Amino acid sequence: MTDRVDVLVVGTGPAGLSAVFSLLAARHDLSVAAIDSSGVSTGGLCNDCKMNFTFPVGFPEEYWTAEQAAPLLGETASHLVPSILPTRDVAVYTRRAERLGVRLLEVRQSHLGTDGGVHLAHELVKAVEDLGAAVSLHETLLDVRAGERVAVTDRREIPYKALVVAPGRRGFAFLQSLMDRTGIPYVDNVVDIGLRLETREANYPVVRDYYDPKFLFPDRVRTFCTNSGDAHVVKEKYAGREGREWFSLNGHAFSSGRGTGTGLVNFAVLKTVRLTAPLASGQEYAEMLGQLAMVMGGGQPLMQRVGDFRLGKRSRAETFTGDLYDFAPTLASCTPGDVSLAMPAKILRAIWKSMKLLDTIVPGVLHPSTIMYWPEIKLYANRPCFIDDSFQAAPGIWLIGDGAGTSRGITAAWASGIRAAHGILAAL
Ligand SMILES: Cc1cc2nc3c(=O)[nH]c(=O)nc-3n(C[C@H](O)[C@H](O)[C@H](O)COP(=O)(O)OP(=O)(O)OC[C@H]3O[C@@H](n4cnc5c(N)ncnc54)[C@H](O)[C@@H]3O)c2cc1C
Repeated sequence: MTDRVDVLVVGTGPAGLSAVFSLLAARHDLSVAAIDSSGVSTGGLCNDCKMNFTFPVGFPEEYWTAEQAAPLLGETASHLVPSILPTRDVAVYTRRAERLGVRLLEVRQSHLGTDGGVHLAHELVKAVEDLGAAVSLHETLLDVRAGERVAVTDRREIPYKALVVAPGRRGFAFLQSLMDRTGIPYVDNVVDIGLRLETREANYPVVRDYYDPKFLFPDRVRTFCTNSGDAHVVKEKYAGREGREWFSLNGHAFSSGRGTGTGLVNFAVLKTVRLTAPLASGQEYAEMLGQLAMVMGGGQPLMQRVGDFRLGKRSRAETFTGDLYDFAPTLASCTPGDVSLAMPAKILRAIWKSMKLLDTIVPGVLHPSTIMYWPEIKLYANRPCFIDDSFQAAPGIWLIGDGAGTSRGITAAWASGIRAAHGILAAL
C-alpha cells in the first residue's frame, strides 16, 4: 500500500487533467496522483480535437447554467489556448434554417486534428507533472473501498482523501458498476442514437465556411462532430453487459494542410432518446441496438448508400462503389446492408426528416452516393445523484466528465474538472 495521497484522479482526459491543474494551481502543497489505463488519453483530445467554446455546446443543461459555464469556459481557454476558426457566410445558412424551424448555432470553435490533439495531450500531462502531480500511465482502477478511502488498481492499493473518477464515455460501464458497488444512487440517463454520414466535401460545402456546423432540428435531432479535410470514419469497440462486443461509429480528421486528404466529410445525425417507465435503462436499450446491428452486419456496423435507401433496397458489396457511387467508404470494413431493418422506426423517421431539412439548407448532402453508417451511439453512465454542486457523488468521491454525464465535449469536461476541484479544495 502506498502513502495516502490528498487527491487521486482517475483518467487523464480533459476532465481529470483540469482537476489536477486547478488543485495544484490553488495549493502547491497537495499530493496529487493521476492514473490512466492508457498511454495517452483515449477520448476526443486525441480524436480530432475540435473544441467548442460556446455554451451550451457540450454542457448538459441539467447540470449547467450559462452563468456557471461562462467563467469556467474562460479558464478552460487559458489552458487549451484555442486558435478560433473563422466562420463565413453563416447568415445565409441561418436564414434558410430558420425558415424550416431549424436552428444553426454559431459556435466559437478550434480544431487541432487527431495528430495535433495527441501532441496537446502529451504536453498537458507533462505540464501537470511539472506542477508536481505523480502521473502513472497504463494503470487501471479496478475497485474502490469507499469506507476506507482506498482505490485498488491493477498494480497497487492507493489510499486517498479525495477521489476523482473521470473515465470518459468508454468507461461508462465501469462507472456504472462502481456506482452499484459503492451504493451511489443514480437515475437513468439519455442516450444519443443515430447515423454517421459520409459524403464528398462538394456535397456539403458548408464545412468550408464553418468547420463543425451545429444544426438543431425538431424532435431532438442534431448534427454532431463534423470532420473534413483528411477525414475518416472510425469504429469504437464496446463490451456489452453479457460480454458481447459491438461497435459504435465515430469520425476524426488529421490536421488540415497535411497529406492529400480524403476530400470527404463525415458527421453524425443523432437523436436524443430519454426512456421513461416501464423501461429502466436507456443504456441497455442502446446496447441492444448496437448488438442487433452486429447480428445484421455479421459482426460489423452497417453501411448503405442514400441512393439504395431511397429505393428501399439494401446496399450490396458488388455495387457499393461505381457510377454514381463515386467514392469508396473510409471505413471499408462495414457491411453493405439495409439500415432500415436495424433502426427503430421512430428514430429513423426523425433522422431522415432532419436529413431532408438539411438537404434544403445545404443542397447536395442527400446525393445518392452519400453513405449512411449505422449505428452511432453515445452512451453516458446513469446520472449519479450528486450530493453537492461540485459533482461529489458520495463522501470523498467526485464523478466527472463524459462518463458521468457532466459533459459532452472536451471543453465542458475541462470545466467539470475545475468545478470538482473547487469542491475538493473546500472539503480538504
Ligand atoms: C473518437 C472520439 C472523438 C471525439 N471527438 C471529439 C471532438 O472532436 N471534440 C469534443 O469536444 N469531443 C470529442 N469527443 C468527446 C470527448 O472525448 C469527450 O467529451 C471528452 O474527452 C471527455 O473527457 P473525459 O475526461 O470525461 O474523458 P476521456 O477524454 O475519454 O478520458 C478518460 C480517460 O480515462 C481513462 N480510463 C477509463 N477507465 C479507466 C480506469 N478504470 N482506470 C484508469 N483510467 C481509465 C481512459 O483511458 C481515458 O484516457 C470525442 C470522443 C471520441 C470517443
